[in-house]
Amino acid sequence: MTPDTDNLFPDDAADATPERTRGVDLVFAAIVTFAPPAAFVLGTWLWISGRAVPSAVEIGTMIAIHVCSLVGVELGFHRLFSHRSYTATRLVKVGLAAMGSLAFQGPVIWWASIHRKHHRYADQPGDPHSMYLFDPDRRFTWRGAIHAHIGWVWSARSVGRGGFARYAKDLYRDADLLWIHTHYFAFMIAGFALPALISGVAHGSLQGAGLGLLWGGFIRIFLMNHLTYWCINSVTHGWGRQDYATPDHSTNVPLLALVTLGQSWHNNHHASPTSAIMSHRKGQLDPGAWILALLERGKLISNVRRPYGPALGRVRRGQTRNVAPPHHGDDH
Ligand SMILES: [Zn+2]
Ligand SMILES: [Zn+2]
Repeated sequence: MTPDTDNLFPDDAADATPERTRGVDLVFAAIVTFAPPAAFVLGTWLWISGRAVPSAVEIGTMIAIHVCSLVGVELGFHRLFSHRSYTATRLVKVGLAAMGSLAFQGPVIWWASIHRKHHRYADQPGDPHSMYLFDPDRRFTWRGAIHAHIGWVWSARSVGRGGFARYAKDLYRDADLLWIHTHYFAFMIAGFALPALISGVAHGSLQGAGLGLLWGGFIRIFLMNHLTYWCINSVTHGWGRQDYATPDHSTNVPLLALVTLGQSWHNNHHASPTSAIMSHRKGQLDPGAWILALLERGKLISNVRRPYGPALGRVRRGQTRNVAPPHHGDDH
């Protein structure tokens, strides 16, 4: 079923959106879609066959950069820049923006614009990565699930700049953020060069550098984007439990809580998007909130916003549904 794409991106979301995906976006889409899984297959084969076994240096570097970029994306790109859910010192702000830029998830202001648009339209026409726009009755389709997970990065209407001035004006005004945004390419390259350099020096060989590039570069991105963090757009809008009757399909998925730093409490997040804390109940693991608590104790961040009680009462399942539709004032 081909959707009526003209109706998928209404009003401000459609303005200035190109009909076709720009060449540079297609190149990035192709690299991020195919290179990390291919690298994972290659790396596993090299390991099993005994041709090139990764050492503690490769695995350690991979985990270290992975954790850095995950913290940068979830606590920086998402909770700080997209939602303004706490206030950070300049050092923390710049550090998080830089770390997130290693993740191969796009430049920071672009990321935040896409995400704000996601909250603005959440599973309605205009959402850049909803899986429910491919069926006239807004039901689950596998085509939609693939679009939500990774297919959207190929779509001009999803990655185009339409409406970005409206969605990210405040971020463009931040000189530090704008500098990191416009130097994204350098950060992205550093995410590959750094592990290659570390392994090259540790092993004293070009082969060592190649192994570092493979594991700390491409397989790290496979681990973060394909296997874990991008499940936020697909899995946590498709499978799992809805504790709150939000107007979208967002769900809570406990299994992904640790690997997404708490973002898989995604139904909680859509119910209370400006909260920096994703856990709403005892036992809901939210490592992102633990890190924020440490930073708050060290006086590096302040004004940490909590889930807002009255709003939660309004959208809790079984009570009035759809009384708190996402609107621009609340979504960041
Ligand atoms: Zn969502
Ligand atoms: Zn969000």
